[in-house]
Amino acid sequence: MTILLTEAEIGRAAALLRAGELVAFPTETVYGLGGDATSDQAVAAIFAAKGRPRFNPLIVHLFKAEQAENLARVDGRAALLMQRFWPGPLSLVLRRAPHCRVSLLASAGLDTIALRVPAHPLAQELLRLTALPIAAPSANRSGRVSPTTADHVMSELGGGIAAVLDGGPCRVGVESTVLDLTRPRPVLLRPGGVAPEELEALLGPL
Ligand code: AMP
Ligand code: MG
Repeated sequence: MTILLTEAEIGRAAALLRAGELVAFPTETVYGLGGDATSDQAVAAIFAAKGRPRFNPLIVHLFKAEQAENLARVDGRAALLMQRFWPGPLSLVLRRAPHCRVSLLASAGLDTIALRVPAHPLAQELLRLTALPIAAPSANRSGRVSPTTADHVMSELGGGIAAVLDGGPCRVGVESTVLDLTRPRPVLLRPGGVAPEELEALLGPL
C-alpha cells in the first residue's frame, strides 16, 4: 500500500530507500522515482514500476559533487561544469569509474553513467540522510508526462511504490539538461533546465 509522506517524515523516506524500497521525491525539475542505485533489485524495481525499457539508462542523484569521483571519471571539463551548475538541473554522462558500485542496470549495461546533484532542499536532505547514490528517473509511467506534484505521482504509480515524499509542486517542471561528456566534444542529449547557451559559454559549441 502507498504511504504519502510529508516533509516531517523525511527520515522515514530515507529509511525506506536504505531498505531497498522505492520512494518518489520532489526535485527542482520534476518528481523523481528514487531507488538505491547500488542495488540491482531496487533498480530493477524502478524499471518495472515505470514500465521503462531496460535499454534506457537512469540518472543517478548525489548529495554532493565529491561523491561523483568514486562513481565516474571526472575530468577537468566535468569538474568545471559541476562547480558551475551543481546543485542544479544538469545531468552529466561520464565514463563509469573502474570500481563504480552503481548497478550496471542503471547504466543499461553501458560503460557510462549519468550523474546529477539536485538543488531542491528536500531532495538534498533525503540524499544526505540516505548517504547512497539514488537512481531517479521521472516518477511517471514510461512515455507519459513527468509529474510536478505528489498527487500526480500517486495517480501515475500509486500501487507500485512504497511512498511519495510530498514537497508541494516543483518549480521548473522541465527535466534536467543531459550532457554527454564521454566524447571529445560535449553532446547535448536532452534539452532541459540549463540552457545550451550557458553550457556553450563555458565549453564552446556543443
Ligand atoms: P529520465 O530519467 O526519464 O528523466 O530520463 C533520463 C535521460 O537521461 C534519458 O534520456 C536517458 O537516455 C539519459 N541517460 C541516462 N543515463 C545515460 C547514459 N549513461 N548515457 C546516455 N544517456 C543517459
Ligand atoms: Mg522521464
